[in-house]
Amino acid sequence: MTTYDVLVVGGGTSGMMAAISAAEHGAKVAVIEKNSSLGRKLLVTGGGRCNVTNNRDKEEIIAHIPGNGRFLYSAFYQYDNYDIMDFFRSNGVTLKEEDHGRMFPITDKSRTILEALIGIMDRLEVDIYTEAPVDTLLFDEGKVTGVQLQDGRNLQASCVIVSTGGKAMPRTGSTGDGYKWAKKAGHTITPLYPTESPILSDEPFIKDTTLQGLSLRDVALSVLNKKNKKVVTHQMDMIFTHFGISGPAVLRCSMFVHQTMKRDKTEEVTMSLDALPNVSKGELTQQIQRLINNDGDKSAKNALKGLVPERYLLFAFDKAGLDENAPLKQAAPDKITQLIEFIKDFQFSANGTQPIEKAFVTGGGIHTKEVNPKTMESKFTQGLFFTGEILDYNGYTGGYNITGAFITGRIAGMHAAKLALSK
Ligand SMILES: Cc1cc2nc3c(=O)[nH]c(=O)nc-3n(C[C@H](O)[C@H](O)[C@H](O)COP(=O)(O)OP(=O)(O)OC[C@H]3O[C@@H](n4cnc5c(N)ncnc54)[C@H](O)[C@@H]3O)c2cc1C
Repeated sequence: MTTYDVLVVGGGTSGMMAAISAAEHGAKVAVIEKNSSLGRKLLVTGGGRCNVTNNRDKEEIIAHIPGNGRFLYSAFYQYDNYDIMDFFRSNGVTLKEEDHGRMFPITDKSRTILEALIGIMDRLEVDIYTEAPVDTLLFDEGKVTGVQLQDGRNLQASCVIVSTGGKAMPRTGSTGDGYKWAKKAGHTITPLYPTESPILSDEPFIKDTTLQGLSLRDVALSVLNKKNKKVVTHQMDMIFTHFGISGPAVLRCSMFVHQTMKRDKTEEVTMSLDALPNVSKGELTQQIQRLINNDGDKSAKNALKGLVPERYLLFAFDKAGLDENAPLKQAAPDKITQLIEFIKDFQFSANGTQPIEKAFVTGGGIHTKEVNPKTMESKFTQGLFFTGEILDYNGYTGGYNITGAFITGRIAGMHAAKLALSK
């Protein structure tokens, strides 16, 4: 039987970093990957450009990991996003910053990141097994002892790092295999759900595609609970689609759609859309009053042109019962009030999100209370470590999930190597 100090199951984002970290700390390491190549998901990230981390301070990064981000505090104090940037720079990868602190390789190609990781593993003499799906983990008296591959081979190690990912986009290889091994080791898997996922709506204006394809920039989208209180608001761009809504603001709201539906025990939630979040209702009222005074002879459509995108304005007229072709000054005051109300607070229902397979990220996973946050080691089984999306934390899009994957990978690799070499 082949013996290693540290085995990493899953050659994805966190697994490759875990292997590098363990090897840098002196361990004999192997990565076992079921696909024929490593890092398939990493390649499709950031639209093929890999938003590799974010240039914000620790507190802000953790605030952008709304699902159990606090679990990552101890890990962040050992290795953080600036260390990730240094790591790539010192390995010949130049990164650049885009809006919202998002960091990308200067080549705009995920492959640059993947090739760097593979090159480093090669230099550190990490053994790579591809087309080698792991069937199960091997345990003996509360300790992990190795893994069994589906082809019947066994590999032995005193430390095993499970980096098999979540269940989002399973065609990249993350089909959730690791959850059952974690369960076998006594861990609780909190319910899995899609996060960073487009939101579905059965509203007539969605069904009849009235607004399909319309993008709104810098709007404020909120999820409301059954008491009509805002659970969360995100001010970013969004787009109307044939099934509902999508885009950055929508992805960020999606986990709250799930949580609110669950908490309120309902099949749908109310969304509120403020198309002009930087203008108060009072200011908007004054602005429209000025237009009525100065341009009131023009048709409503022409007088209010440019307030919001034209398609949205016409939709707003329809909702407020305003005639787009009639002079603005003839509009009844209550219709103007309704128009303002619509622009500032258009409420519509949503009934869930796209399923986990179509989501960017998996919510839920291995209960973080059962994992040592300083090492990523299981509190139940000695030598068993977990990294990345299999753990119950999830971040917004913007580089936060890869950051979480790299940081947990780094910490697990380091502590697994130390533990293995102390034996
Ligand atoms: C389309 C898309 C775009 C994204 N873009 C970004 C982005 O730009 N920035 C960002 O921060 N996050 C992004 N994410 C999220 C991010 O990619 C993931 O959170 C991250 O890759 C998770 O890393 P991981 O190591 O946990 O799992 P993965 O990277 O999914 O790796 C898991 C690996 O384990 C392997 N495996 C599974 N089961 C077995 C088994 N039984 N035996 C052997 N191997 C196995 C899989 O084949 C896979 O290679 C994106 C996600 C998607 C779907």
